[in-house]
Amino acid sequence: MYSRVQREECIACGLCQLRAPALFNYDKEGIAYYRPDNNQGTTPIPSDQLAAFKQAYRDCPTGAIKRQNKPFPPENKSTTHL
Ligand code: SF4
Repeated sequence: MYSRVQREECIACGLCQLRAPALFNYDKEGIAYYRPDNNQGTTPIPSDQLAAFKQAYRDCPTGAIKRQNKPFPPENKSTTHL
């Protein structure tokens, strides 16, 4: 399972970092990104973090946290500004 934050959908609420501090962090403007690969979405979620990921994914109020079973395509505008 791979993840990436669709950054233009993030409202900087802070929940994902509370739920999964190993997986999500914030830039200086409070917009979240996926920590393991700086929001590229190409590093799998560690198996010991899947439960925390699911909580963050479930609780994100805007659906900004994306997930899929294969690596995300190369960076686009949604992942810039890190
Ligand atoms: S939970 Fe969602 S909206 Fe809140 S900071 Fe994380 S990605 Fe952004």
